[in-house]
Amino acid sequence: MDAILVVNAGSSSLKFQIFEVIDGKPDGRVRGNLDGIGVRPRLRATSKEGVLVDREYQPSEVADLPAAVGKTREWLASLDGIDLRAIGHRVVHGGPNYDRPILIDAAVLDRLAEYQELAPLHQPNNLAPIRLVMDIDPTIPQVACFDTAFHRGRPETADCYALPRSLYQDGVRRYGFHGLSYEYIAERLAEIAPTKDKLIVAHLGSGASMCAIVGGRSVESTMGFTALDGLPMGTRPGQLDPGVVLYLFQKGMSQQAVSDLLYRESGLRGLSGISNDVRDLLASTDPGAKLAIAHFIHRCGLSAGLLAAALGGLDAFVFTAGIGENSPAIRALLAEKLNWLGAELDHAANEAGATVISTAASRIELLVIPTNEELMIARQTLAIVGREKTS
Ligand code: AMP
Repeated sequence: MDAILVVNAGSSSLKFQIFEVIDGKPDGRVRGNLDGIGVRPRLRATSKEGVLVDREYQPSEVADLPAAVGKTREWLASLDGIDLRAIGHRVVHGGPNYDRPILIDAAVLDRLAEYQELAPLHQPNNLAPIRLVMDIDPTIPQVACFDTAFHRGRPETADCYALPRSLYQDGVRRYGFHGLSYEYIAERLAEIAPTKDKLIVAHLGSGASMCAIVGGRSVESTMGFTALDGLPMGTRPGQLDPGVVLYLFQKGMSQQAVSDLLYRESGLRGLSGISNDVRDLLASTDPGAKLAIAHFIHRCGLSAGLLAAALGGLDAFVFTAGIGENSPAIRALLAEKLNWLGAELDHAANEAGATVISTAASRIELLVIPTNEELMIARQTLAIVGREKTS
């Protein structure tokens, strides 16, 4: 099988997918995950035929991400008939320079390592498997696909903070994230609703953001320098007065403690005191759970207004990612916040999980489109490898 491997490496899990290249297009074949790294490591992979592997390890056997890459590689090598053409990696940060995917060599890897300080929780994990594969077999083409790239090309007016300009030159900019998801949705929308031009896509998952898109390109988004900004998320607060951070430091909190608070203990979890999972909160009668959901919807509504202003109008609003794809209740609450823009929800279509969930009379089309970041990575990787082959 002529194949592309897609790797999405985080601190506690390594996700991967194998795509078969058929007529120049990637087609998903195997989907797998080694999660619980260092705690309860478990490798699982499935294909259309069923479960291919489901194996648990001792924590000491898979203590860190490099060990997870090793175990996953061992298992992948045991599969027959895979002719690996390239590996596509999700890399969260492309910094100010990379506005498209790139074939990785030692110089590119060094440059990407420089962006570690811009995304300290994600970038080192994204780069670790690349480095390992490069050491083991430098002949395998590896491609970096960035979460920031889709947002590059916006004017400085949209990308800067009102800080001394030297900081902009240092890389303190509004990068925006979830770009692989947005690019995938923009491509799907061009097929499903080609006449819709001014779009807001709401990527509502454990990380959440919204993006304003015109002509298939990002013009604004709710995330900025880091993935902390914008909407409240599972464990991150979203938009925050920076004075709060100064206050926490004044109170004597360490940098690590503030980082943990902002990345792991805030958002829906912190506000509810119950859970970061929307399902738990919707099922709960606790006032904290109700407040967390109400705040999430309030902030999503405000952000939709902000992005509609950036677009100067709105043709379609798309729900995607874990919450957006699976929660009719959240979609209904948020659709109400879009009434003033002319959105009218078709409640039956929403409950049924249809693609179009607005009424025929609605001025704005409301859609639910499942995202597929891995397929986007496979497509981008294939485009680069194909180009390299012919050049
Ligand atoms: P993601 O990061 O895109 O995988 O989304 C994960 C999040 O989606 C979880 O933390 C849940 O809060 C949310 N989620 C998944 N399924 C549902 C559902 N049926 N209803 C509400 N939220 C859901």
